[in-house]
This record gives sequence, structure tokens and C-alpha cells, in this order.
Amino acid sequence: MTELEKPYLIETKILTTRIYNEEYGDHRKCICGHLYERHFDSYEDMDPCGCKYCACDDFKEDIDTRLDITKILDELNYDPGILHPYGGGNITWWKNYVKSEVQHCNMYWRRLIESYL
Ligand SMILES: [Zn+2]
Ligand SMILES: [Zn+2]
Repeated sequence: MTELEKPYLIETKILTTRIYNEEYGDHRKCICGHLYERHFDSYEDMDPCGCKYCACDDFKEDIDTRLDITKILDELNYDPGILHPYGGGNITWWKNYVKSEVQHCNMYWRRLIESYL
């Protein structure tokens, strides 16, 4: 049977659809100023409906707002200041002192990192 004798010719269509990428990062910012996740309809199975807050329908990352982890490395290290010898030979006192310094250090870095988000 030649093509001319067939009742129907077959046309193959390739359908391209944009779908939500959960690995991409919901908190990335678009050049429209709104977050990635806001460019999808969470009530409609993350339909790529476009930005909920403006007319933007094509997420383009605003590179300037991306967290640059290397900038944090330029920050000064935590400085505990002068270590006081108040504990003397009291090991429990020193243990608590070291613990509280570790907590201060963690808080210091946590606040710095948060200030970049
Ligand atoms: Zn946008
Ligand atoms: Zn927007």
C-alpha cells in the first residue's frame, strides 16, 4: 500500500511543556522580583501559570540576588576576645566556658549567613 492509498496519513507531533522543577530551588529570585515557586500554581499541580504577583510568565533568575557563599568566607572569624583564667583548676567551669564559646561562635556564623539570605 503506497501513501496515496492510505485513508489517513500519520503526523507525529512533539509536544514541549514546561514543568516545575522541584530541585531548582523555590527561593531563587526572578528578575521580576518574585520567587521561583511563585511562578507556579500550587493548587493546580504546579502548573507553570506565570508569576502570581505580576505579569511575568517566564522565570529568569536574577543572578545578583543569588547567594554567593564565597563572600561569607571574606568575613572575619569569630573573636572570643581575651580568654579569662577564672576557672582555675575547675574542669567543669572550663567545660562550660568552652561550650558557651562554641555557642557564641555558632550564633556569630549563623547570623552572618542569615544576613546573606
Ligand atoms: Zn518572574
Ligand atoms: Zn513577578
